[in-house]
Order: sequence, then structure tokens, then C-alpha cells
Amino acid sequence: KLAAPFASLIRLEDLPPLPPRPANSHKGMFGRLLCIGGNQGMPGSMRLCAEAALRTGAGLVKVLCHPQSQNVVVQGCPELMLADPEENPQQLFDWASCFAIGPGLGQDPWAQEWLNALLSYQQQHHKPMVLDADALNLVAASKNKKLPGNTVLTPHPAEAGRLLGLSAAEIEQDRYKALDRMVQLYSASLILKGAGSLVSANQERYVICDGNPGMASPGTGDLLTGVIAGLLAQGMDTGHAVLRAACLHGAAGDMAAEDGGERGMIASDLLPFIRRLVN
Ligand code: AMP
Ligand code: MG
Repeated sequence: KLAAPFASLIRLEDLPPLPPRPANSHKGMFGRLLCIGGNQGMPGSMRLCAEAALRTGAGLVKVLCHPQSQNVVVQGCPELMLADPEENPQQLFDWASCFAIGPGLGQDPWAQEWLNALLSYQQQHHKPMVLDADALNLVAASKNKKLPGNTVLTPHPAEAGRLLGLSAAEIEQDRYKALDRMVQLYSASLILKGAGSLVSANQERYVICDGNPGMASPGTGDLLTGVIAGLLAQGMDTGHAVLRAACLHGAAGDMAAEDGGERGMIASDLLPFIRRLVN
């Protein structure tokens, strides 16, 4: 057990570089990610998540979204695959080597059914998986707090509040305590987002020193989910993936801010820098 205030300050430059790709690489070596979300009226978060996973180097990225979101999700990004929503869930899950669920998921019966199906599949398979956004809100509202192994949770303070039955203000009063409580309750790798994001990974706590207030803008969290999932797809374990993704995402935000300033920065401005930082 760590003493309460202990955490390592960390930034991307403290982490070892990623290994170069072998000369005989093929896309099958870099994982098959299934992203679930993008309910009616919320295609954008899923697009940002899935594109960030591709820019992080994931092999194949397939999106399961509401039929009405499909056009927006893939428009201008033909590299993304679309799942057939009528497909048998078991078959779809068997195809994937890892999962991201939550961006634009919503909380209607469609969302709840897909989350339930994935969680019950994962109780047996334990493939690496990120839960974000409404997936967290649905978990918070359910009685069953037992998550499968190899899960990453990415709450911002309001989502963390729901996961713990507290207000966002209470979370912000003692972010370390909130992080530890969520780890205790959910036994997952975890990031508590916000200025100076806290990561709990491999029994250690970290304060992420990359990032800036320009990132307080819509869609940046969806990118983070995609970056984590992209690293998971390439075989990184959940702890290392959430730690590196948090630093990398912050550093991409810093490069975007350097490029054009913090105010008016939008999530998609980070995408080219995410690519640069995984090379
Ligand atoms: P979300 O609220 O889910 O869209 O996630 C927002 C993302 O932007 C998270 O990764 C936050 O850590 C990051 N972020 C938001 N505000 C700040 C800030 N003031 N400083 C650094 N990072 C931030
Ligand atoms: Mg979010």
C-alpha cells in the first residue's frame, strides 16, 4: 500500500520510446479493435475515438455505432470499418482482440444492451478493454461493480463522482482519495482526468505533467480513449497503455497549443501530433 500523498510526476519524455515496427510488419500484427458507441446524434465522439486509435497505430479498427451515425463516422476516414449492427454479438466480439466502449454511447436500451453483452462476454475472455463516458455512467448506475480483468476506466471528475456516489466537487477536493477508492471498488487500471490527470497503473500512482487548458474542449476525452485502445491493440498491457496514452495525449495537446494557441483548439487538432508522438 502506498502512503496517501505519494505519486510520481511523469511526462512523455520520461517513458522509453516505442520500438520501431519490424520490417516484415503486416496490419494483422497490430490488433483488431472494436469500438462501440456513437448512438443516434452522437457520431462525432466515436469518430474521434476510432481515428485516434488508427493514428496510434492500431491494426484494424471496426466501429459498432447506431445506423444513423455510420455515414458521419466513416466520412473522410475510409480506413475505418463498420460493424453490421445485426451481426451476432458473440461473432463480432470474437473478431476483436480488444475493445473501447463509451464515446457517444448514450444510456438508452440500445446502449445498455451492447454494454451488457460486452461485459458478459468479457467475464470469460478478459480481452483488454477501455470503458469511457456513458459506459462509465451505466456501470455506475448498475448494481454489479465487478468488472472483468484487463479493464481501463477513464472518468472525468463528474463520471468519477457517479462511480463513487459523490459529487464532482467532492472528487476534486481529494483526487488521490477518489483515485484510490475507484481502484479499490473496480480493480481496474484507471485515469482520473482533468488538469494534472492522475493515473493508477500497476500498483503505482502518477501525476501526468503533459497537457494544458486548451484541452478543456469537446472530444478530447474521446481521443484519449482511442489512444489507450490503440496501444492495447498493439499488445501493451492496460497499466502501461493508460500511462503512456495519458502522457502522449497531453503532449499532443501541448504541440497543438504550441502550433496555434490554447483558446480555440479543438480535439481533431491533436490527431497529427498523436501520430508524430508514436514514432
Ligand atoms: P473529457 O472530459 O472526457 O472530454 O476529457 C477531457 C480530456 O482533456 C482529458 O484527458 C483531460 O485530462 C484533458 N483536460 C481537460 N482540461 C484540462 C486541463 N485544464 N489541463 C490539462 N488537461 C485537460
Ligand atoms: Mg468524455
